[in-house]
This record gives sequence, structure tokens and C-alpha cells, in this order.
Amino acid sequence: MTKDKQTEIVIIGAGGAGCSAAIEASAYTKEIVLLTKNDFSDSKTFNAQGGIQAAILPEDSTDNHLEDTLRAGNYKNNPALARILTSRAPQTIKWLESLGIQFDRDDQQKYKLKTAAGISCPRVLSCGDTTGNKIVRPLEKTVKSLGIEVKEKALVKSIKKNSKTNRFQVVVNVAGKEELIIAKSVIIATGGLLPKEKRAGLDLNDHDYAPDGVELATSIGAEVKNADLIQYHPTGVVIPRALRRYRIPEVVRGCGAKLTDKNGNEFVDSLATRNKLTAEIVRICDAGLGVVTEDGYKGVWLTIPDVEKNHGKGYIKDNFPSMYEKFSKCNYNINEKPVLVYPIVHYSLGGICINENSETTISGLFAAGETTYGVHGEDRLMGNSLLDIFVFGRIAGTSAAKYVSAI
Ligand SMILES: Cc1cc2nc3c(=O)[nH]c(=O)nc-3n(C[C@H](O)[C@H](O)[C@H](O)COP(=O)(O)OP(=O)(O)OC[C@H]3O[C@@H](n4cnc5c(N)ncnc54)[C@H](O)[C@@H]3O)c2cc1C
Repeated sequence: MTKDKQTEIVIIGAGGAGCSAAIEASAYTKEIVLLTKNDFSDSKTFNAQGGIQAAILPEDSTDNHLEDTLRAGNYKNNPALARILTSRAPQTIKWLESLGIQFDRDDQQKYKLKTAAGISCPRVLSCGDTTGNKIVRPLEKTVKSLGIEVKEKALVKSIKKNSKTNRFQVVVNVAGKEELIIAKSVIIATGGLLPKEKRAGLDLNDHDYAPDGVELATSIGAEVKNADLIQYHPTGVVIPRALRRYRIPEVVRGCGAKLTDKNGNEFVDSLATRNKLTAEIVRICDAGLGVVTEDGYKGVWLTIPDVEKNHGKGYIKDNFPSMYEKFSKCNYNINEKPVLVYPIVHYSLGGICINENSETTISGLFAAGETTYGVHGEDRLMGNSLLDIFVFGRIAGTSAAKYVSAI
């Protein structure tokens, strides 16, 4: 081991939750170390597609947003956390814009607001269909301009708390060498259960094994709930085979694409929330009404050609440029042919318990983002995770900074 490093706050994870925590905390202290096991593009935030929710329209309200969020979560959400999420959405959009993020607008400079499952009013702001990387780049630039120490390719192996010194010991593997960082406070912002996703075959970059946030939190006795509660994304591609497991963004259904069985019958409300839709797709396939591929996969049709019937020619290419390009490269015309889809593992609903200050049950240990439990209850609305990571990431950063200044 090299010489121990001392700092005030260690943040584990450089996705949206970790970066926003670092930016907020840096207003109070410059002794922050932000760790990521790879680089800034290796996060779910970077891969996010469809967008982020905020009640912006005059006919919408943060109360509507809250009710939609609670209904989707089957009223199992922590209501205080859900209220913070939705009430802070408009100001979060302004904050992101102040960092240079530009959400899509129409010719009159009004936001292009899309809709998705379980949403009572159009509320999804996007940056094309690659919202995540359009957000991450300005975040990364901001973090690096604030004098925050960033360590890339730094895998956190373990955390411990020394009850005598009241300090955390964070063991990190940086380029094969173990380093020990002593910190007054730690923020876990490690995202969802990546190792399990890897086993499910998701197309994420390969890593050396690193414990996820739930594992780190559990190891020092922080409360975790429903760690295995998972959300499926209903529309993972089965055919074309070259794009297998690519998720068709949910806002495509918001724009009119429907789910149909092998006979072309719509068997479900295509804008039902994710886990309900997942259950229906599985049921219909088990009942023999799905399509079976030559290599034994099952699926149902997603009628993307309906989108241009509703919105006019060129809509898919203009609004989902990345998806359009991916399919075009496979010589698959999604404006003419439906796509075969089946649910895939998508999001960790369970995780580390936090309160309204993003505090865990261990003093000095904070958490934010997909690694936490409570904001979304039993199912999450599309666009509410990007919101969650910035709302609670920022809260975690401020709370940790206040904590370290008080001890
Ligand atoms: C394809 C796709 C599309 C999506 N689209 C949307 C969307 O349109 N809207 C929406 O709201 N949500 C969407 N989501 C979900 C959303 O992107 C994620 O829930 C959210 O970005 C999670 O952010 P996070 O900051 O909590 O974690 P992440 O962005 O996953 O960041 C986790 C960070 O922790 C680091 N890390 C993990 N473990 C360790 C360790 N042991 N040591 C060091 N570093 C570690 C990682 O390297 C990474 O930097 C999508 C997800 C996917 C996969």
C-alpha cells in the first residue's frame, strides 16, 4: 500500500448522482475525491436515452407529477422522497441548463415535451435520444473545472468506519495498486446492480469486479431494503438480431408505437407502466401468442411504423436520430417494419435506505441515485431516474459538506 490519503469527502461513482454531489459539495470544501472504476462515459447516466421528467407546462403541476410517481410505484414509495423529487424537478432542469445542457426545443423555442407510460401530461425533456451523454459531458467539464480531485480507473474495494476516529477507510484499487483514503464522509453513488446486469448479458463495458453500492453499504451495516427488486425494460430488441438487447426508448411508445401479438392484435395498453407491461408480454408469449425466432427467442411486435403515421414523415429520424441510425446500419427500416421485443433487466428499484437529506443509517455515510431505495417504490416512471440522480445527488453533496464542517 502507498501512503494513506486524507480528505473530507469521498464520492464513489461519477455518474449523474456522483458528479452532482461533487459539484454541490465543492461550494463548501475543496477536499473532495471523486472515484470511478472506469471513466465518465462508463455509467448508466451516460447511456440514458429518452429524457428527464419535470412538470413545466402551465396545465401540469408538481402535484400531478407526484401523483403519477406514487401511482407507478404502487404507493410503496417513500412519500417524502417522492415529493422532494417532483417538487424540485423544474429547478433541477434550470440547474442543468446553467451547466450548459441544452434540452430540445421547437421553432418557437418552447421545450419539446414528450410523454411516456404512466404520465398524465407531456413532461419528458430530452436531448434527442442520447440524453445521457449530452448531460454527462457538461457535468464532467464542470467537475474538472472546480478543482475536485478525480480518480478514474479507481475501483473501490471496501469501506470501513473506524468508530474511535470517526473516519471512513476507503480501499481503492488504482491501476492494480491498493490505496487507502481516510475520509470524514463518504457518498455512495455507484448506480444499479451492475454485476447482476453483467450476468444477464447487458452490453456494458467489461470491468474488473468491484462491489456495488448495496454491497459496500451492507458491509458497514447501513440499512438496505428490497435489494433484489428489479425493473424490467419492456422493449429490449430481439429482432433484428444485431441489435439484440438494445432498449427501444419508452417515448417511442409515447409517440404511438403499439405492442402487438403474432396475429397483429394489440393485447395490452402500450402505455401501461413497465412492470405491468413486462408481465403482460411474458403472459402473452407463454400463452403461445408471441413470435418465436429461429434461434429460440420469444417476443412481441413493437409497431414503430405507427409513429410516423401519427406525426408525419421524418419524425423518427429527427427525434430518435441515434436509434434510426442504429437500425439503418442493419438495413432495417423501422418506419416500415415492426421490431420484435422482449423485456430485459433494466433498473434496481431496491437499495440503500436514505432520508430526505440523502443520509443512510450510518452517520457520515450518504447515498444517492440508483443505488438507493424509496423514491420510486415498486415501479419507476421513465425519466424519473435522471431526475432522481440530480435531485438527490445534489442533496447528498450539500448534506455531506455540512456534516464534515460540523465534526
Ligand atoms: C440504456 C439505458 C437507458 C436509460 N434511459 C433513461 C432515461 O431516458 N431516463 C431516465 O430517467 N433513466 C434512464 N435510464 C436509467 C438511468 O440512466 C440510471 O438509473 C441513472 O443514470 C443512474 O445514475 P447513477 O448516477 O445512480 O449511476 P451511474 O450513472 O450508473 O453511475 C455509477 C458510477 O459508479 C461507478 N462505480 C460503481 N461501482 C464502483 C466501485 N466499486 N468503485 C468505483 N466506482 C464505482 C461507475 O463506474 C459509475 O461511474 C437508462 C438506463 C439505461 C441503461
